[in-house]
Amino acid sequence: MADCIFCKIVAGEIPSTKVYEDEAVVAFRDVNPQAPEHILVIPKEHVACGVCEINASNAAVIGHVFEVIAKITKELGIQDFRVVSNNGEGAGQTVPHIHFHVLGGRDLSVTMG
Ligand code: 5GP
Ligand code: ZN
Repeated sequence: MADCIFCKIVAGEIPSTKVYEDEAVVAFRDVNPQAPEHILVIPKEHVACGVCEINASNAAVIGHVFEVIAKITKELGIQDFRVVSNNGEGAGQTVPHIHFHVLGGRDLSVTMG
C-alpha cells in the first residue's frame, strides 16, 4: 500500500535489518529499540490496521507470524520474551500495518503495561 512504511520495508524501498523472511512474513529489527532485542514481525500483505482486523481470510498468515516468532526467538537465543501488538493510537500504534513486537534480552517480569 502506498505511503505505508512497512509495505516499503517489505518492498525493499526502505532499508531494514532483516532477521527472517519468507514468502508471507518478514521480521526486522526495530529502528528505535525498547529492549536489547526488539524485533518486528509482520505479514507482507498490508493488513490494516491491527489485531482488530484479523478475520477468516487473514488469520492463517497471522498464525504463521507466530510460528515465525517461535522460530526466530529460538534461533537468536532469546529465551524469555514478550509479544506486543498495539491496536489504535490510544494504545501507542504509529504504523497502521499489523505488526508484532518481540521484546527480550532484559528483565520484563516487573510490569506488563
Ligand atoms: P507501533 O508504535 O505502531 O506499535 O510500532 C511501530 C514501530 O515501528 C515502532 O517501534 C518504531 O520504532 C518502528 N519503526 C517505525 N519506522 C521504522 C522504520 O523505518 N524502520 C524500522 N526498522 N522500524 C521502524
Ligand atoms: Zn503496509
